[in-house]
Amino acid sequence: MLPLPRSIAHLDMDAFFASVELLSAPDLRGQPVVVGGRRALAPSHGEPHPRLRSYVGRGVITTATYEARALGVHSGMGLMKAARLAPDAWLLPANFDAYREYSRRFKAAVQALAPVMEDRGIDEIYLDLSSQNPEGRLD
Ligand SMILES: [Mg+2]
Repeated sequence: MLPLPRSIAHLDMDAFFASVELLSAPDLRGQPVVVGGRRALAPSHGEPHPRLRSYVGRGVITTATYEARALGVHSGMGLMKAARLAPDAWLLPANFDAYREYSRRFKAAVQALAPVMEDRGIDEIYLDLSSQNPEGRLD
């Protein structure tokens, strides 16, 4: 007898940390935003957030929005190099407590619909949808 076909979905939340940051800084949606650095910067006079050009020292990009990636910066790049490519990008410090909390909420929401889940990290899961009908309910 042939085994039943299985349906496995892979969910990888792209730019997850940056997306979490934009929840508390909605004014930055649609703009180049870089998350990273070893310490939080104060904004320059009159600006709502610090700019990447203000960063001095070691430290790398944890993640970046698509608008920042379009300027040539990416995860793992040193912040000083990134600041040369995208000096006007906004720079926010990483907040791993918030990422863990939103990761927990994301996984709980998905698991309410698809209980067979393999946890692959803070922003990544596999789901076994084999026993679900097309409406997403368990048979
Ligand atoms: Mg991801």
